[in-house]
Amino acid sequence: MAVPKRKTSPSRAGMRRSHQALTAEAYAECKNCGELKRPHHVCSHCGHYDGREVATAGKPLRSAVRA
Ligand SMILES: [Zn+2]
Repeated sequence: MAVPKRKTSPSRAGMRRSHQALTAEAYAECKNCGELKRPHHVCSHCGHYDGREVATAGKPLRSAVRA
């Protein structure tokens, strides 16, 4: 089994983890109901997208999209 030759230094671990920062999720206001929703996604609150209802509100969106 391959084994690391040296212990990872705190500096190197920090350099590796410099890319792991989390960013805030993007959000947009629904044009129909005003709830916050994910951009380019059907509103999970009212089922509207681009000004029209494409899914029944309250129901799981996955089944409505595939129907
Ligand atoms: Zn909505």
